[in-house]
Amino acid sequence: MTIQPKNAAAFANHMPDVRAIRHHLHRNPEIGLSEFKTSDFVAAQLEAMGYEVTRGLAGTGVVATLRNGTGGKTVGIRADIDALPIVEDTGADYASLTPGVMHACGHDGHTAMLLGAAKIIAERRNFDGTVHLIFQPAEENFGGARIMIEDGLFERFPCDAVFALHNEPGLPFGHFVLRDGPIMAAVDECKITVNGYGGHGAEPQSALDPIVAGASIIMALQTIVSRNIHPLTPTVVTVGAFHAGVASNVIPEKAEMLLTIRSFDADARDELEKRIRLIAEGQAESYGMSVTLDYQRGYNPTVNHKAETNYIVDLATRFAGADKVMEMPRPTMGAEDFAYMLEERPGAYFFLGTQRTENDPPLHHPKFDFNDDILPVGTAFWVELVEDYLKAQ
Ligand SMILES: [Zn+2]
Ligand SMILES: [Zn+2]
Repeated sequence: MTIQPKNAAAFANHMPDVRAIRHHLHRNPEIGLSEFKTSDFVAAQLEAMGYEVTRGLAGTGVVATLRNGTGGKTVGIRADIDALPIVEDTGADYASLTPGVMHACGHDGHTAMLLGAAKIIAERRNFDGTVHLIFQPAEENFGGARIMIEDGLFERFPCDAVFALHNEPGLPFGHFVLRDGPIMAAVDECKITVNGYGGHGAEPQSALDPIVAGASIIMALQTIVSRNIHPLTPTVVTVGAFHAGVASNVIPEKAEMLLTIRSFDADARDELEKRIRLIAEGQAESYGMSVTLDYQRGYNPTVNHKAETNYIVDLATRFAGADKVMEMPRPTMGAEDFAYMLEERPGAYFFLGTQRTENDPPLHHPKFDFNDDILPVGTAFWVELVEDYLKAQ
C-alpha cells in the first residue's frame, strides 16, 4: 500500500504554511543554545495548536505533548533547531538576516516539517496514546540532546521509542536511507600546541622550530589508522588546521594543530587517543620540545535499534514504496547528538534524500539551501508515523 499520494493530497492545503515557516526560520538563524527567538516561535506555534508545551530543557529546548484516547503508548520525534556560524551565499530572498549565521544544515527544514506534522496531528487526532515532539537546540556544537536528557527529558516525557531524520542532498530525492546498528560515528577533538623557542629564520641553530616538529607530528599521526587500528575497524584522524608563524624570516614560538577523530568501536576510540598522545609527545621530545595537548571527547556513536529500524523500513516502504527505501551498506563518519537519545531509549535515525541535481551544494556549504520540495514528504511521514505507531489497538 502506498499511502503518500492520499495523504500528500489531503495535507496539501497545509504546505504553504510549512514553507512559510521554513523561510521564516531560515531568515532568522541562531547558534546552538542561543536559539531564543526560534524557541519562542516554535513554542507559540505549538501552543496555538493545543499542545501542552514545556520549555527550558537545555535552555532553549521545547517539548510539545498531545494525548488522545486511552492508549498507554508513547512516541517521541525530535527535530534540531540550531544554525551554523557560516556566511550565507545562497542569494535566496529569505536569506539570513543575521550576518555570519546560517541554516546551512537544513535544521530549518527539520523544524518546519515537525511543526507542520504537529498541526495536522492535532487537527486529525487520529491516534491513541501520547506524542512528544522534541525541538532540540545545539545539535551542531554543544550536544543539546545530552543536555535535554540531563534536564530530565525522558523522565518527564517517557517515550517507548524516539525517532529523528536528517535531510541529505547527496541522496536521491524522497529516499529513506538507514541501517540497523551504528549509523554515525563518535567524534572527538584534539588541540596540540608545540612549544618551541622563537628566533631569527637565518639562525635556526639558536631556536627550537615548532613548525618542523609540528610537520613531523602530522606525518606520524597518519600511521595510527594504518598501523595501530584493525584494518576492518573504521576510524579517521584528520588534522584540519595547522597554524604557525607570520613571516618568512622568523621562527615562531609555537605551532598549533586541530584534529577531528572519528570512530565507532570503544576500544579503538581509546587506542586513538593513546596513540595521538604518544606520537605528539614523542615526536616533540625527539626535537627537544614539548607539546600541550587538549583532548576532548565529543558525541558518542549513533547506534540504531533493530526493532525500530525495521519499523521505519516497513513504514517507509508502505509510505513511499520499496524502491524509495535504501539500507546503507556502511555507516557514515559524520556525527550526531541524537546518539544520546538512542542510548536512553529505543529508536532509529534515518536520512531523507533531498537531491535536486548531482551538483547540489553539500550540508554546511554557504550555498546550501534546504530543498522545500521535500517538505510535504517529511511532514506527511511524521504524521503517518504517529498515527501508525499509536494506532488504536
Ligand atoms: Zn550540521
Ligand atoms: Zn544537521
